[in-house]
Amino acid sequence: MGGLPNLVVLNLNHNQIQRLPAEIRSLSKLQHLSVLDNKLEEVPVELCHLIKLSEINLTSNKLSRLPQELYHCKELTKLYVARNKLINLPEGIRALEKLQVLDVAGNKLSMFPVEFHLLPLKELYFEGNRFVPCEPMPSVQDVQVLTLKELVARFVLKEDRSRSSLVHRMLPYYPCLTTLLANGGCCALCLGPFLTTWLECVHFVSLKKDMKMRNSVTIPVRALICSYKCFNTDGHSYYASGISSNLPDKRDREREG
Ligand SMILES: [Zn+2]
Repeated sequence: MGGLPNLVVLNLNHNQIQRLPAEIRSLSKLQHLSVLDNKLEEVPVELCHLIKLSEINLTSNKLSRLPQELYHCKELTKLYVARNKLINLPEGIRALEKLQVLDVAGNKLSMFPVEFHLLPLKELYFEGNRFVPCEPMPSVQDVQVLTLKELVARFVLKEDRSRSSLVHRMLPYYPCLTTLLANGGCCALCLGPFLTTWLECVHFVSLKKDMKMRNSVTIPVRALICSYKCFNTDGHSYYASGISSNLPDKRDREREG
């Protein structure tokens, strides 16, 4: 593969390929890759270095996950991953600012990742998955106790948003802290920052109304909320996902203890 630096289209359909070699990264001009109907079990991270890729077809393989680095391929307009074993799509999908066609039919998805509805999609195929049903589920009104680490992280993240704050000016001098804080998220309701503690919720997005597509179906999209305080406010349409009452706070404590 190393000897084909000018290759633009690569079609490996209908073979018995189990893995793509790391050397695939040398095909730096590749725009279309099709590995339909093979036996791929994973997508090599090296594939994600091919930033000219505009179309990837991985339909009918054995993929159980996609690497988050796939979102480095910002020229992607068409992504076909139907008939695999995907349980979820990695977070950060909004980075694919040009994605117009997505086929995830015939997988095991329960919902779409955060901010999915902000993609400029024109076509979406998603039948044959395990999506959470569109019905409100009761939430557990736990008392939430944040760890000191989480409280400090939220304070620092909030301060960092203000360009004139001391925190914002000093953070670049603490690279390991910056790396740690980079994993934080933002509450879908109050827009406040959080680091490792959130409530996993779901909201139902209308393809027609919210994404301007022809289909009138609604799809579940993941949303993260910073606290029960936010979750318990009236007038929002986020539901507890009911899949895993995701309280990494608790997991954190178990790990630390
Ligand atoms: Zn909030």
